Amino acid sequence: MKKLILAGAGHAHLMTIRNLSAFISAGVSATVVSAGDFHYYSGMGPGLLAGIYRPEETRFDVRKMTEARGATFLQGVIERIDAAGRRVILADGRTLAYDLLSCNLGSDVITLPGASPHLIPVKPIDNLHRAGAEIRNRLQGGPLRVAVIGGGPAGVEVAGNLLRLGKGAAHPLAVTLVSRDDLLLRYPARAGTLALASLRQRGATVIERQAVRQVEASRIVLDAGEPVLFDLALNAAGIGPSAVFGRSGLPVSKDGGLRVNAHLQCVSDPAIFGGGDGIHFDPQPLDRVGVYAVRQGPVLCRNLTAALNGKPLKAFLPQRRYLSILNLGDGRGILAWRSLIVSGHLAFRLKDAIDRSFMRRFQKE
Ligand SMILES: Cc1cc2nc3c(=O)[nH]c(=O)nc-3n(C[C@H](O)[C@H](O)[C@H](O)COP(=O)(O)OP(=O)(O)OC[C@H]3O[C@@H](n4cnc5c(N)ncnc54)[C@H](O)[C@@H]3O)c2cc1C
Repeated sequence: MKKLILAGAGHAHLMTIRNLSAFISAGVSATVVSAGDFHYYSGMGPGLLAGIYRPEETRFDVRKMTEARGATFLQGVIERIDAAGRRVILADGRTLAYDLLSCNLGSDVITLPGASPHLIPVKPIDNLHRAGAEIRNRLQGGPLRVAVIGGGPAGVEVAGNLLRLGKGAAHPLAVTLVSRDDLLLRYPARAGTLALASLRQRGATVIERQAVRQVEASRIVLDAGEPVLFDLALNAAGIGPSAVFGRSGLPVSKDGGLRVNAHLQCVSDPAIFGGGDGIHFDPQPLDRVGVYAVRQGPVLCRNLTAALNGKPLKAFLPQRRYLSILNLGDGRGILAWRSLIVSGHLAFRLKDAIDRSFMRRFQKE
């Protein structure tokens, strides 16, 4: 009996998980290993922080989805892949043998110099739920200062949703966003201007073009200017692929992403496939966004079936552009499509509809 292991139950594996019964019917032993029983949909993460969404609306019960299809779910953290021995090694020492391995281990927020027990990374996404609950709770007792580090889409969304969280609270919530560059640097300039206006008009302090030198217990030391004092800080300073691949001696890109070919197959080992933020797509570098992880899902599922049956593989053809909508937390969004930038209620309503429809598609048992 051939053994298939899905390492990580992220966005790129949802399609394969949904189709696990087909693998089982074909006589394959399929095991899903993931850090938690639930996978949170990042697109709704900032709304989860603000309480726009309840946790159940934003997550997939990947254990239930796996077991309902007759496959095995193992909760555990993968430490290393032993490609020569075709084994996956878990942090608790368990080892699992495979004939075919598919990796969707995602990315982690980059660490900043210094340390603080009050600094929370925005990934895993359920951190945002916990941070939201803590902030709500602490605002009942007194004022609170929350800093957000990072002026990319995640930082802007998190800051906007913090402002929503503070609205109507018993005590004031002061939100400060620190960005090394101008806000939303990788978007057309109008997006950054709109984000800045929205955050400032709603009371946030936004510090642009200031790099973080060090994070200390309750202050952020910047390259220049006054330090930012905080009670709680959220790290949205950027992401890097899972460290598992580099640690395993597999071929990786400069930033540690597993190098895969057009078929999403590891360039050095035909028994390993991968998708999502954790990979480096050798034919062309891709932005690390959920859009690509989700689009890779069907190709990954099809190629795993093909690889098990010795059939030809299909190439993943990435779309050149993708729609991006940011949730500003006040019922408005910023929509970016090519050079078009639009802001308003309609943009958020469209994002909400797209996100909810994605959830409905995969939440089905
Ligand atoms: C706040 C925020 C908002 C975002 N909003 C959007 C958006 O609106 N649209 C968009 O396109 N992108 C968005 N992104 C980017 C998006 O989150 C990523 O591109 C997407 O999550 C990538 O999906 P993935 O499946 O590769 O990884 P992940 O979603 O990170 O999933 C990886 C899975 O693997 C598991 N895992 C990880 N490591 C291990 C291990 N060692 N052992 C076992 N299991 C492990 C994790 O538990 C997780 O379930 C956002 C990111 C953030 C931080």
